[in-house]
Amino acid sequence: MQQVYETVLHGGGYARQIIGRKVLMRTEKDRQPQLVHTLQPSEIVPVWLNWFDQTGRALPWRLSKDPYAIWVSEIMLQQTQVQTVIPYYMNFMSRFPSVHALAEAQETSVLKMWEGLGYYKRARQLLKAARLVVNQYGGQIPDTVDGLKTLPGIGEYTAGAILSIAWKKAIPAVDGNVIRVFSRLTGTPWTGSDAKDRREATQLGGRWLPPDRPGDFNEAVMDLGATVCLPRGPHCQDCPLTSFWVALREQRIVDLPLRKARKTVPVDQLVVLILHHQGLWRVTRRPDHGLLGGLFSFDWLAEGSSPTQLKQLENDYSVIHLPDCTHRFTHRIWKLSGYLLESKSKAADQIDTLCKLPEQESGQRMWVSDEELCSLPFPTALEPYRQAALAHRPVSSAEIP
Ligand code: SF4
Repeated sequence: MQQVYETVLHGGGYARQIIGRKVLMRTEKDRQPQLVHTLQPSEIVPVWLNWFDQTGRALPWRLSKDPYAIWVSEIMLQQTQVQTVIPYYMNFMSRFPSVHALAEAQETSVLKMWEGLGYYKRARQLLKAARLVVNQYGGQIPDTVDGLKTLPGIGEYTAGAILSIAWKKAIPAVDGNVIRVFSRLTGTPWTGSDAKDRREATQLGGRWLPPDRPGDFNEAVMDLGATVCLPRGPHCQDCPLTSFWVALREQRIVDLPLRKARKTVPVDQLVVLILHHQGLWRVTRRPDHGLLGGLFSFDWLAEGSSPTQLKQLENDYSVIHLPDCTHRFTHRIWKLSGYLLESKSKAADQIDTLCKLPEQESGQRMWVSDEELCSLPFPTALEPYRQAALAHRPVSSAEIP
């Protein structure tokens, strides 16, 4: 195995002396020898905490040290901007103020509170975990990493955040944002997605955690990553740590952390069929597993069928072509067109030949009223069609007094 040696920048200052100490470093081909900062916690942590005390974000979940409140906020914050989360968090906590209240809730109610926040699996896992806490842990949220990780949806990062903030345990909480900050701070070419890099960054976080304020330090790192050390445009002039920065000195800020090449995002062309019959709408609950699991949707035109085939149905259905829409998920794009079909019969046999549901969507079909349609949790991607359907809602003869 090739051994790569590198020079260690000793001490914490911008213009500090380089001492030619040799250390064994990583051997991956794509990693060039780097300057490594051996910053001491006693240098960097007080500066960081002082900055946090003065400029830390006032967020609703920071008013509480209740592990349940912190847990809910951390799950909502996964992959989601703080400003988006705030109203959802407030509504969720007022509807389900305790783990017991959540454990007793219906899944549909929880998904409805989550509607529009995305990544709905988080909501279903949160509900399952709340039920586990009540049924297996006597209502007490576990206060160890191993205990927390037995709950669906909780991994290393979330466990660290809950334990350090709620119980002041010296456990680091390292996610992609934190890796970015640590990577730039130390000039280390970590990537956010590599498990080994994550482990190394977590070890670094663990070494820096002050035993008296671990939760504050974790939050200080999160805040710096979210407000100052931004992925594409770091505000170094506002950063309290500029003088410590190896990557800044090396003009490598925007190179770090290393990024993997972006994959091409697949584009799905989908046709939504909205069936309406005498004041009722046909909807399907999507199965728990897969994209948008547990949410409701209208029917879909089956693969291999063509929208022009809908023409053949015009004797039995009135067909309205609704505006096209595009919805971007992080990993795919949906290009949607939609048709509103007023059918004469609930049986909808002819339509069923066109909209055979794909395997993963063979959930429960049902007919619902306008009110129920509004109250069911729908994916954001289909919200324009729910709105358009209600706006173009046909009035059937049975409804005319
Ligand atoms: S100096 Fe710039 S690159 Fe370094 S942590 Fe601060 S904002 Fe990020």
